[in-house]
Amino acid sequence: VTKRLDVETALYRALERNELHLVHQPIVDIDLGLVVGFEALMRWDRGQAQVVSPDEFIPLAEETGIIVPLGSWAINDALTQLRSWIDAGHCSPSTTMSVNVSPRQLHDPEFVTIVSNALDASGVSPEQLWLEVTESVMISQPEQALDALNALCDLGVRIAIDDFGTGYSSLSLLQKFPIQRLKIDKSFVSGVAQDESARSLVRTIIAMGDSLGLDMVAEGIESVQQLQILAEMKCSKAQGFLISHPVPPESMGSTIASLDSFGAWNKLRGKNS
Ligand code: C2E
Ligand code: MG
Ligand code: MG
Repeated sequence: VTKRLDVETALYRALERNELHLVHQPIVDIDLGLVVGFEALMRWDRGQAQVVSPDEFIPLAEETGIIVPLGSWAINDALTQLRSWIDAGHCSPSTTMSVNVSPRQLHDPEFVTIVSNALDASGVSPEQLWLEVTESVMISQPEQALDALNALCDLGVRIAIDDFGTGYSSLSLLQKFPIQRLKIDKSFVSGVAQDESARSLVRTIIAMGDSLGLDMVAEGIESVQQLQILAEMKCSKAQGFLISHPVPPESMGSTIASLDSFGAWNKLRGKNS
């Protein structure tokens, strides 16, 4: 309880003290071997080498409501960052940025305006922003979340379901919500090399996503074998430590350069030509 209170109080101050920053993980098109997007991931550096993981502070930020200003900061910062990488020629002008969004943010009446203002301020076009929500948006006030997602879609922003398959009501969610991408959770991806049932599940998720016209991203790819299996299953995009860990903005130029000059990509992913 003491630790929790300590974290909660400190979180309120973290934003004004500039203790929060974003790291970014590249998302690669499996067929082309090119970086087509990034996911922004929040880090909280409390000083004295104390970096708190988002799994620890995001749920608290969500519970206390402080995720609303934190999330708004993250969207603005991520889009400003994307704009500067595009302007610097590190990535193509159509590269996308994915930002994680908590249910509480979707219930904030200002959320759509916050997103729209962040797009205007950065000059990034709406199709280049992916908002990642989890199946938990279905749990409380799903109608309100649905209204917000529809308004965001009207803006041209795209919606991804994160950690797909780990929550519940996945299938009704696909029917009801305006979704353009599924991110296959790393717990399924980690099993594909050894486990026939994990392979069947992933194959089925990809087939279902494909037939609904959804973009498919496999999360948490850590081995060449996993990448090759996902490539054989015609998963469109990959993200994971094998390709790159999340990196700070100043390292992204060199990270992209080393990935793009990665002539071994076709061999790595098991393609002959
Ligand atoms: P997520 O959105 O599913 O992000 C992917 C997580 O998997 C990240 O953890 C990333 O570092 C990690 N990851 C990426 N590749 C691999 C891999 O190959 N193997 C393994 N084992 N892990 C990998 P991270 O950065 O600790 O973030 C954890 C979660 O915290 C995120 O999961 C997301 O749900 C949440 N989160 C992070 N940043 C934000 C944010 O700005 N806003 C909100 N609302 N949530 C955030
Ligand atoms: Mg995510
Ligand atoms: Mg995920």
